[in-house]
Amino acid sequence: MEQKDKKVLCIGLVCLDIISVVDKYPEEDTDSRCVSQRWQRGGNASNSCTVLSLLGSSCAFMGSLCAGPVARSHDPLQCKAPVLLHVRKLHHSLKLLPLMADRRLRSYVVQNVPDVTAEDFSKVELRHFKWIHWEGRNVDEQLKMIQQVARHNAALPWQQRITISVEIEKPREPLYELFAYGDVVFVSKDVARHLGFHTPQSALEGLRCRVKVGAVLICAWAEKGADALAPDGLFIHSDAFPPERLIDTLGAGDTFNAAVIHKLSNGARLEEALTFGCRVAGGKCGFHGYGGIADMVTRQE
Ligand code: ADP
Repeated sequence: MEQKDKKVLCIGLVCLDIISVVDKYPEEDTDSRCVSQRWQRGGNASNSCTVLSLLGSSCAFMGSLCAGPVARSHDPLQCKAPVLLHVRKLHHSLKLLPLMADRRLRSYVVQNVPDVTAEDFSKVELRHFKWIHWEGRNVDEQLKMIQQVARHNAALPWQQRITISVEIEKPREPLYELFAYGDVVFVSKDVARHLGFHTPQSALEGLRCRVKVGAVLICAWAEKGADALAPDGLFIHSDAFPPERLIDTLGAGDTFNAAVIHKLSNGARLEEALTFGCRVAGGKCGFHGYGGIADMVTRQE
């Protein structure tokens, strides 16, 4: 199979986001009226898969999904991505987690775990993929999966190797092990701030010692755009592309990651990929959900 015909695989969470729009961020133990509410499939890896497919990348998702009505209501098959679905029978553990503290939006994630294991992953036919992206979660298992890919890659000429990308989004110490294993590493501003950095540039300077030689390190920073460390050690910046009206920033990071992966996995240069990531993510902030991305891309072409 030619490299261009292979897919991008995203591994991580699919969940249900229940998004309640309120006039002001609610204080604890108070009731407030919702202006509107919507249910939307969420989870970083699932969102990135949605955006990849809207951008025209052939992609697949791998994650756990419980059996039952909640799972059906956010069936990933609703997205246009071809889906490699890992369905597990498990006891539902229904957790409500506040996800975002934007002034107007509040979202909760209804989550069903467990995560994909290395054993699950060993059943994946790696030859179908040119790029595999991990949303940092169950690190011990994820490192074993990455080792499986490294072994697969070792037997191949570099043009046919699978690119490994990781996202370190949550400020949790165990996730930081992933820095050393990605060919492309996305680190969030939350993690950067947690580690004491106040700008994307200082984060890249401070974190470059954690990534492997020749890796790309990328840090997106909302209205400041995004910065990257290139394999040759140079720093690259893209400004943000704010929409006319800021409507919905939920999933901007997942959109950014997907747009960057879309470009890089099709051979674009890092500068182009970074700018495209900011353009698509900025545009996405101008509408609810992801549906508008396809129109946006068509308009730009
Ligand atoms: P996350 O959703 O993970 O917090 P960020 O806030 O860092 O991610 O945003 C990712 C990308 O989305 C940024 O690099 C930027 O291009 C775009 N973006 C996010 N918020 C805004 C905003 N308010 N204005 C313009 N672009 C934005």
